[in-house]
Amino acid sequence: MVPKKDIKSLYRDELAEHMAERGEPSYRTDQIMEWLYERLAESFDDMSNLPMILRQHLPKDFELNAVRALRTRRATDSTEKFLFELHDGSLVETVLIPATPGLTSRSDRVTLCISTQVGCAYRCAFCASGLDGVKRNLSAAEIVDQVVQVRRRSDERIDNIVVMGMGEPLANYDNLMRALRIINAPWGLGIGARKITVSTVGLVPRIKALAAEPMQIRLAVSLHGTTDDVRHKIMPVNKKHPLSELIEACRYYRTKSGRMMTFEYILIDGVNDGLDQAQRLGEIASDLRAKVNLIPYNEVAGLPLRRPDAGRCKAFQRMLKTHGVTATLRREKGDKIAAACGQLRLQHTADEEGAADVANGSR
Ligand code: SAH
Repeated sequence: MVPKKDIKSLYRDELAEHMAERGEPSYRTDQIMEWLYERLAESFDDMSNLPMILRQHLPKDFELNAVRALRTRRATDSTEKFLFELHDGSLVETVLIPATPGLTSRSDRVTLCISTQVGCAYRCAFCASGLDGVKRNLSAAEIVDQVVQVRRRSDERIDNIVVMGMGEPLANYDNLMRALRIINAPWGLGIGARKITVSTVGLVPRIKALAAEPMQIRLAVSLHGTTDDVRHKIMPVNKKHPLSELIEACRYYRTKSGRMMTFEYILIDGVNDGLDQAQRLGEIASDLRAKVNLIPYNEVAGLPLRRPDAGRCKAFQRMLKTHGVTATLRREKGDKIAAACGQLRLQHTADEEGAADVANGSR
């Protein structure tokens, strides 16, 4: 038996082809797309303007829901975290973040942070997502459906998408781009390309590929260190793509795409938060005319790394300003609900094993 396709992995013209093969009029495709991405149908049965015979046939060819909400958590600041289960029982996280100064250009907007892999292969020393390595890539439908399911469950309008959840998006390039085209399309979720940010650990060849994409999505690079010495210690990927190569790829991206980019920089106490690092970051960012998002480290249970005090964070930010670099210091909205990557999943697993509430008990 041919396995069923997830309908949310299809472009409009692919579904149109299927409809044509079935001898359906072309407006059926638009009706179905509207049910999927505007009316957020929970079953094919809900698609009440389709003929009964088609409604009965669609579930034989297609899966409708690619992810299933397992639980949500709401913090006092209204950040909301969703844990989703996939068909194979894997878990991924999605976080809804209202009004996040520093994450995007406008401060009054709702941002959704989505995942692209189960786990992560890159094993950054500070990150909870890579603790168990990577299990698999998400399909395009599993990426798209995170947005659909959150829309269905939330009163909030979603203005921005950041691909900063679990996984390395550029390691799952084809599924990522397919999903983003569906999220962006007028027949899909209709979210503007400039409101979509993809964050990478620094995969040089893929940054170059992204520069050639016609879709005007934004790029964020997780820098976290401005010398090979510091970056090696916390990001093993730096051995494969050292800083000089990464910065060269960023320059290529800027020139080729003409688009602005952002550096993310976590501040970790005594590791990468010295003023010498700030000085170099100022030089790199002003040279590339890049924005910087400073993120005080969100501590992870079981990892020895700490967040610097507020004074050190401010001093780092001031140094960047002397280079004329726009640097925001992100407030930790999701702190109370363990919003850093991989932390809710970690906690869920621990709960299942009867262990303590690790993600919240850590602070
Ligand atoms: N793999 C991609 C996207 C996922 S992580 C990347 O590396 O960019 C999104 C951002 O959260 C990255 O900048 C990552 O370094 C950061 N991050 C991971 N763990 C964190 C933690 N505990 N506290 C603060 N930021 C964290």
